[in-house]
Amino acid sequence: MNSSKIRSSDSANTEPASDGTRRASQSTPEQRVTELEYQLAEIQLHLAAANRKLESASSELQASTAKLRDSEEITRSTLGALKASLDREKLALAFAEIGTCEFDVKSSMVRSSDMSLRLFGIRSDQAELPYDTLVECLHPEDRPKFSHALEQCLSGTGNLDIEYRVAWADGSFRWLRTKGDALLDLDGDPIKVLWVTEDVSQRKDMDARVRFLAHHDLLTGLPNRTLFQDRLQQALAGAKRMQSRVALLFIDLDRFKYVNDSFGHRAGDILLQTVAARLRGCVRETDTVCRHAGDEYLIVLSALREPTEAALVAAKVLAIFDEVFVLESHDVQISASVGISIYPDDGQTMEDLIRNADAAMYHSKKSGRNRFEFFTPELNAPVAERLVLANQLRRAIENNQLVLHYQPQFDTATNSLIGAEALVRWNHTDHGLLFPDSFIALAEESDIIHLIGEWVLNEACRQIADWQGKGLNIVPVAINFSAFQFRRSSLVQGVAAAFARHGVKPQQLEIELTENAIMQDPKETAKTLDELHEMGVSLSIDDFGTGYSSLNYLKRFPIDKLKIDRSFVEDLPHDLNDSAIVQAIINLAKSLRMIVIAEGVETKAQLDFLRSLSCEAYQGYLGGRPIDAERFAVLLE
Ligand code: C2E
Ligand code: MG
Ligand code: MG
Repeated sequence: MNSSKIRSSDSANTEPASDGTRRASQSTPEQRVTELEYQLAEIQLHLAAANRKLESASSELQASTAKLRDSEEITRSTLGALKASLDREKLALAFAEIGTCEFDVKSSMVRSSDMSLRLFGIRSDQAELPYDTLVECLHPEDRPKFSHALEQCLSGTGNLDIEYRVAWADGSFRWLRTKGDALLDLDGDPIKVLWVTEDVSQRKDMDARVRFLAHHDLLTGLPNRTLFQDRLQQALAGAKRMQSRVALLFIDLDRFKYVNDSFGHRAGDILLQTVAARLRGCVRETDTVCRHAGDEYLIVLSALREPTEAALVAAKVLAIFDEVFVLESHDVQISASVGISIYPDDGQTMEDLIRNADAAMYHSKKSGRNRFEFFTPELNAPVAERLVLANQLRRAIENNQLVLHYQPQFDTATNSLIGAEALVRWNHTDHGLLFPDSFIALAEESDIIHLIGEWVLNEACRQIADWQGKGLNIVPVAINFSAFQFRRSSLVQGVAAAFARHGVKPQQLEIELTENAIMQDPKETAKTLDELHEMGVSLSIDDFGTGYSSLNYLKRFPIDKLKIDRSFVEDLPHDLNDSAIVQAIINLAKSLRMIVIAEGVETKAQLDFLRSLSCEAYQGYLGGRPIDAERFAVLLE
C-alpha cells in the first residue's frame, strides 16, 4: 500500500479525532468495516516503520559493539606495547646500571628505582625516601653541591648535571653522575624533578691514572716536563701579580754516564730515584721539582723576594750529593752542576727562562762542575728575526706560498685508508719549505693565525671538491685549528660558508683541536663545538695526553676522536711508562665511546703493539709521510 494514497483517501473521508481514534457512532456497518480496514492498514504502516527503525538501531548497535570490541583490542595491545617498552627501558636501564629517581617538590620525598638505591648504597626496599635521607649518603663535602644543583634546576637557572661522591657501608667512596630536569605544571612551576644516576667511578679512576701517568715520571714519581711547564706558568703568573720573582734551577748530574756504564742501568735507575727523593727534601711544599730528561732535573722556586734566596737553595742542592749513594751494594759518590735563571730579570717567558738556566748550568760544568752559576746575558746570543718573519708570513698568504700536505690515516685492523690530515707548509723564498713548528707560534702572536686558518679551511674544501670531481674515492680530511681561532665568533659561519662555496659535505671534514684550546674558554668553545657538530663535522682532540684537562670534563664536549700524542708512541713498546699511558688512554676512550687514533707510528713493532691493544686507527711515517695533493690522489684511486 502506498502511504500517500492512504492519507489522501483518509483525509477525504474522515477527520481524525483528537485522541487518534475514529468516530464510528453514526456509521453504517459497511462504512465501519472500511474504516476498520483503514485503521488496520495504518497500524500496519506504523508497525513497518517501527520495524525498520528497530532494524537500523540493531545494526547500529552491532556496529558499535564491533567498534567497542576493536577499540578494546587496540587499548589492550597499546597497553601491552607500552608495558613491553617500559620493561625494555627498565631492562636497558638495569643493564646500563642507571638508576632513576623522582623527587616530589611538595612532599620532598624521592621515589627511587632499585638501581638508584643500590648506587646510593641504601639498603632498603622502600621505594620512597625523604630527600634528606638520600643526601645523607653523599660525601659531606659534596652535599651542598648536590642541593645547590637541585635548587638551580627547580628555579630554572641551571641544569641538574653533577658528579659527586657517595659513601658506601664498607667505607669506600663511589663517584656518581646525576643528570635530570624539572617537570612543570601549567603555570610553569616545578612539581617534580626526574633524574638518572650512573656510577662513573671507573671512568674517574681511569682518568686519574691517565692524568698521573701523563704528568709524572714513572721512575722517580716526580712531575714530568709537561706538568712542570704548567707549574712554571702558574708561578710566573703569580709573580707578575705579586711583583715577586721566580727562580729556575737547572740541575745536571756530573758523570752520570759513568755510573750507568760501570754499574749497570739498574744502579743508574736507583741513583735517579734517590736524587729525586733528596731533591724533594730541599724545597718548600709550594716549589716544584721535576725530572726534565735523563739525568736532568728542574726546580721552580716561586714567590722569591731576592735572587740570593735561590743561591741558598742551590747550595742545599749541591749538599745532597755530599752523602754517598748506595747503589746495589756499591757506594758511589757523585756531584751535580746547577744553573739559575730568575724571572723577570733573565727572561719573561718559560722558554727563555729554561734556555737561560740551561746556559748557566753549562757554564758551571765548564767552570769545573759541582757548583752553581747564575745566568748572565753574555751567555746568550741575541735573537731578533721574529718581526721580519711575521711580515713575510703575512705576505706569504697573499702570494700563495702556503701549501697543504696530506698524511694518510689507516685502520689498524685492516690497514685500509680511512682519512687524511691536512698539514700546512710554507714555501719560503730563502729558507725553502718551512714546517708549521717554525711559523704557527709566530702567527698566533697576531691576527695572522686567522688568515692562515681561513686559508687552510678553504684550501682543504677546495681540494676535497677537486678530488671528488675527478671521481676519486675521497676520505674525510682533518684540518688543525689553533686555540686562537675559537676566539672568533664568526668561526662557524666561516666553516659553513666554505662548505657552501666548494659544495663539500660537513661529513667530509674533521676538525682537530688540542685540549688546551678547549680549556682556554670552555663555555664559548662548547657552544662553537656544538654548532659544528650539529652541522655534521666530526671533532678530534689532537696531541691527547699532553694537556691538563680532565676527560670527565671533556666528555661534555661533542668529541668523536682522541689522537694519542706522538710522544707516547715514540718509545713503544719498550717503555713501560708510555705503554701504560697508551693502554690507559685506549681504555678510557673506549669507555667514552670515542675512536682512538695513534700519531707518529714509525715502526712495525709500534703498530703491532697498538693493534694488540685494539687501537682503532693510526697515522705516521710507517703508513706514509705527509705528501702533496697530487701524490695523495694516487692513494684515493
Ligand atoms: P699535529 O697536528 O699533531 O700533526 C702531526 C705532526 O706529526 C705533523 O708535523 C706530522 O708531519 C708529524 N708526523 C706524522 N707522523 C709522524 C711520524 O711518524 N714521526 C714523526 N717524527 N712525526 C710525524 P707537522 O706537519 O710539522 O705539524 C706540526 C704541528 O703543527 C701539527 O701537529 C699541528 O699542531 C700544527 N699544524 C699543522 N698544520 C696546521 C694548520 O693548518 N693550522 C694550525 N693551526 N696548526 C697546524
Ligand atoms: Mg693534528
Ligand atoms: Mg698531533
